[in-house]
Amino acid sequence: MVRDEAAAARFEQFPVPASVREVLEALVRGGFQAFLVGGCVRDVLRGQAPKDFDVATSARPAEVQRLFKRVIPTGIEHGTVTVVVQGAHVEVTTFRVESEYLDGRRPSKVEFHSDIEADLSRRDFTINAMAFDLVAKRLVDPFGGEQDLRVGLVRCVRDAMERFLEDGLRPMRAVRFATVLGFEVEAQTEAAIGRTLHVFRKVATERVNQEFTRLLLSPRVQTGLTLAARTGLLQVFLPEAEGADFSAPARAREDVSLRLAVLLSGCAGAEAVVQRLKYPNKVAADVGHLVANQHLPGPNATDAELRRWLSRVKAEAAVPVLELAEALGRGDAVIRRRLEAQLAARPPLTTKALALTGAEVMVALGVGPSPVVGQATAYLLERVLEAPAHNTKEGLIRLLEAFPRPG
Ligand code: ATP
Ligand code: MG
Repeated sequence: MVRDEAAAARFEQFPVPASVREVLEALVRGGFQAFLVGGCVRDVLRGQAPKDFDVATSARPAEVQRLFKRVIPTGIEHGTVTVVVQGAHVEVTTFRVESEYLDGRRPSKVEFHSDIEADLSRRDFTINAMAFDLVAKRLVDPFGGEQDLRVGLVRCVRDAMERFLEDGLRPMRAVRFATVLGFEVEAQTEAAIGRTLHVFRKVATERVNQEFTRLLLSPRVQTGLTLAARTGLLQVFLPEAEGADFSAPARAREDVSLRLAVLLSGCAGAEAVVQRLKYPNKVAADVGHLVANQHLPGPNATDAELRRWLSRVKAEAAVPVLELAEALGRGDAVIRRRLEAQLAARPPLTTKALALTGAEVMVALGVGPSPVVGQATAYLLERVLEAPAHNTKEGLIRLLEAFPRPG
């Protein structure tokens, strides 16, 4: 068939790794069916180098284990094993169908099958439900995935309502794929999203987070957020982002913390929101810090004021805050240049950078450990931010003489 030849030509363009080829050939030699499936077929057909090559086979996990010397039972209960050949890892999954979805979460049971079409029929979207037999050079595409790929449509395999009721993450994946690929969500598929939100609501946040992060880091994040809002998904997991300027994240670097800060810049409890979305604590803290410090120094700020600002915001957060302000349309090229000049001069911005240690401050004041030491140190930093030239041992000791001592 012409389609098979066209697909084969595509696979010539993106040579399948020798390790994957060896696994496919060994399975076929062993009397089993073996296909490349899912994301790699989609990516190769649209002329993109795939991230990884997944293999689906009629061989049962135990049969795969018998066929190869080194096999890691990665997800053996779901039919997935990792074959190690030529030093590379190849994921091999037995054809399967999933049944008894509990509440739109993970399937509670998988059933192995000897039929590739059954395996493809459990997959989410037509563009993800194609298989390619590299040995026979045959494309298996029972749901019109190749056609949808050509016209740019994310369409559910079979009935969208049913598929979304089975697994509530799929609507989010539809929006993510549409965003990342620059596709439209097919009308019935999109309509089914709004009608299955009660199932989406039950999906583990970690799973939603993974899809959302890929949407957020896409150059088409604006379209993605608009689609997530239009379908009702955004309201479910991130109501705080509603009313935000969806065009702003795309103006920021493709960094999770920065783009989250842009999206949540108008939100009072941004850190808690990011924590609720199950991002790492570091990401939540960074977003909270960026949002809390989003305002740049005013155009008439003195150099001392710039240093005080840098001391409060912290040197390492200065550039991200500048990027945040720029994405929000509040950038100031002059202030950026002046802040960069200050940073380049490496002025002391923290008590740690003072030329006197805490112990030396105690000696100079003639006191032991006491709150006075902290007050004196803060006083010194304040003076040094005003005039960095003070930051020598002698300079600071001289300043301490003017420090109003208690008692
Ligand atoms: P990516 O490039 O994003 O990794 P992918 O297609 O490889 O894309 P994965 O999440 O790695 O996506 O999933 C691999 C394949 O498994 C998909 O192509 C699809 O066929 C199937 N799949 C994944 N998640 C689901 C799901 N929730 N429901 C049905 N099928 C799914
Ligand atoms: Mg993948």
